Amino acid sequence: MKDLALVERMPRAEREVLQVHRLKDLITRLSERVPLYRERLSEARVQPGDIRSLADLARLPFTVKDDFRQTYPYGLLAVPMEDVIRVHASSGTTGRPTVVAYTRQDVDTWSEVMARTLMAGGVGPSDVVHNAYGYGLFTGGLGFHYGAERVGAAVVPMSGGFTDRQLMALRDLGATVLCCTPSYALHLAEAIEEAGLKPKDLKLRVGFFGAEPWTEAMRDALQTRLNIMAINIYGLSEVIGPGVSVECPERQGMHVAEDHFLPEIVDPATLMPVPEGTVGELVFTTLTKEALPVLRYRTRDLTSMTAEPCRCGRTLARIGRIMGRTDDMLIIRGVNVYPSQVEHALLQVADVEPHYLIVVRRDSALDTLEVRVEARAAVAEAGADAMRALEAVVRRKIFETIGITADVSIVPPKTVERSAGKAQRVLDLRK
Ligand code: ADP
Ligand code: ZN
Repeated sequence: MKDLALVERMPRAEREVLQVHRLKDLITRLSERVPLYRERLSEARVQPGDIRSLADLARLPFTVKDDFRQTYPYGLLAVPMEDVIRVHASSGTTGRPTVVAYTRQDVDTWSEVMARTLMAGGVGPSDVVHNAYGYGLFTGGLGFHYGAERVGAAVVPMSGGFTDRQLMALRDLGATVLCCTPSYALHLAEAIEEAGLKPKDLKLRVGFFGAEPWTEAMRDALQTRLNIMAINIYGLSEVIGPGVSVECPERQGMHVAEDHFLPEIVDPATLMPVPEGTVGELVFTTLTKEALPVLRYRTRDLTSMTAEPCRCGRTLARIGRIMGRTDDMLIIRGVNVYPSQVEHALLQVADVEPHYLIVVRRDSALDTLEVRVEARAAVAEAGADAMRALEAVVRRKIFETIGITADVSIVPPKTVERSAGKAQRVLDLRK
């Protein structure tokens, strides 16, 4: 485990030598073994020998989600099927799921980056890891499982759902670490309160939350209600699953495991690299993956990146919170709106629970934005006037945040559907 820490702290110039070496090897493998890449690399007239520094990355062709669809299920594999030992699929938040595959070495790499993820939150052999990410085709469950085993912690493989049973396990088995989506963590927090438990009745210390967008305000809520340190984690199936990047205790952005996954931020319109600190589309090149390597994969996730040194001592670049996906930006009456902005506004109102649904409609030619959000129990009990007053407060907050007047519906507690995995926050009925 010691050398894992070293990998994360090596001087950037030293790491770049390793990255360039791995990038050349990747280009060789891709042009020898994957027809789609052979074609694109020859169109771009790039040979492995042309790569001298990371700046040469900009000459390489991109990969997009549709390339996975066009070659479904196994067309992008760079190894024979005999070498594949695992298959997963992305959750298909935005369309048909994409299939991803792993060799034994890939599973080992994944376990390593997941161990690093957990170690960033101080997880070790004495911890009990309550893993409520979904087990199955989704990468979350098994990704955390292997990482927790690698650090020597005791894993409780809960998967999502069956909230009552989750509570019992959390309490009886002495979980110190919670892994799940932030929306499910909130649901668990609520269930814990309802069961009459206090955070101090549990041993939870740290939570690893990701797989969906969330906000600083949500972090505050989870930290207070569960009495834990909440850590943001990011990953995606096409790159490996969770384990791509994670916050350190400084929590000033998520460190990218750059020795395995080379990050770039590009302007989604021009596809040109943007200056450090500018928001754009996150792009990854996998440097070590065997079964399914990707070259400049466009994640459609929007964020910024910095290589500034971090107080924790890691020299790995950091990405900011994912602000949304290029494809989940809503354009409402000409205004760009991200669901996370609505969440940010809602969390500033004390009397609502951050369980919400955004519904967009087109009435005649006009787009309408409805935000359905739950009242706290006390407000619901206080009656119709209190609910109406709350509605006005929420409407004003949303207007202040995004500049649009929303139709706000304050609904009774527990009426917005809960999800055990990725929450579905937007219903766009215009399509
Ligand atoms: P799908 O694209 O079907 O949701 P995945 O299950 O691979 O497939 O999910 C990866 C996506 O989840 C990322 O591209 C990103 O949009 C989202 N995601 C993962 N972690 C985070 C996070 N910490 N914050 C915001 N979004 C995240
Ligand atoms: Zn750090």
